[in-house]
Amino acid sequence: MGTPQLLNNDDFCRRLPILGRSWERESLSPMQLLSRGIEAGLTSESDDPGQDAGDRVMSLAVSRPIETAQSDLLGLAEHTAALADMIVWLLRTGSPWQRPAPVRLGNHLWEPDSFLGPDGTLRRVVLCDRWSEDRATAESFDWRTLEAAIYDMPMTLVVVVLGASRDGRRHGPLSKGYLHPVSQDLRFRKRDGGDFCSTWNTCYREDFKGDREEWLEAMTEDGVLEETVLLHPVEPEESTLREVLVLLAAEKLSRVRSTSALPEPQFQQCFDPIRQCPFRSCCPYFRMPSETNGFLRVPAPHPATAQETTWYYRPRA
Ligand code: SF4
Repeated sequence: MGTPQLLNNDDFCRRLPILGRSWERESLSPMQLLSRGIEAGLTSESDDPGQDAGDRVMSLAVSRPIETAQSDLLGLAEHTAALADMIVWLLRTGSPWQRPAPVRLGNHLWEPDSFLGPDGTLRRVVLCDRWSEDRATAESFDWRTLEAAIYDMPMTLVVVVLGASRDGRRHGPLSKGYLHPVSQDLRFRKRDGGDFCSTWNTCYREDFKGDREEWLEAMTEDGVLEETVLLHPVEPEESTLREVLVLLAAEKLSRVRSTSALPEPQFQQCFDPIRQCPFRSCCPYFRMPSETNGFLRVPAPHPATAQETTWYYRPRA
């Protein structure tokens, strides 16, 4: 089985996908907590998928350690749950999001990360502090986006701007607004571009007494919604480049799957502050991950059924 994340990991350090085949870090970062909640909500069969997203965050927060310097873990979990609820409620306008069927890539099965869009395109949710041209370029070279070439389908990135992360809270309009001290009107941005004076009270989504519709209406009236949730179409690759990408993915996947010995460590990558390799606490010190040093065994993947399997790519002879 191959996934876009497997190839992203291989691009980062060839040791990472080999270790990640058997182990995952027990603790979760706040971003992992949020994205797992959102995924649960987007695919939920429930009448209230936003609630499911928040519930998933809370259940993970009590069952797994969270990587944070915050002592108020309950506050962090409730904040993240409220944010996941709001995002899923905004994005899920209909039935549960579905992924396309896995496809055969070379000798292996490719399990997609993206979802099918209502218009026959692929879509994937990108969570970010802020959106920029640099970030858009980086996302376009992420295998989660490049898998559009494997499916030969256009892709739309559903970009959700979370705002900066400080003190266990996200400081963006999906999770933070301001309440007028008297009227209790919810606002996000002053129309003259100035700052709210000190008498306005900060209001986080989880503390807001109104409902989601009121929060959304206030975001819309202050013109912050279109900067917070935006659609970024990714142009399909022209056919020659597409073939090269598919061949490259198949060859990388084949190499990763046939590697059993641990490749050499890449010390320059281990402590990358942005990527934060999950094995940085043991691997650079030549210790293997185990249950006793903060890791969980990854369950073996279920074998795909015949219905799930579509032959798509065959390497050229
Ligand atoms: S800790 Fe370093 S060597 Fe080990 S998998 Fe991560 S990046 Fe590679």
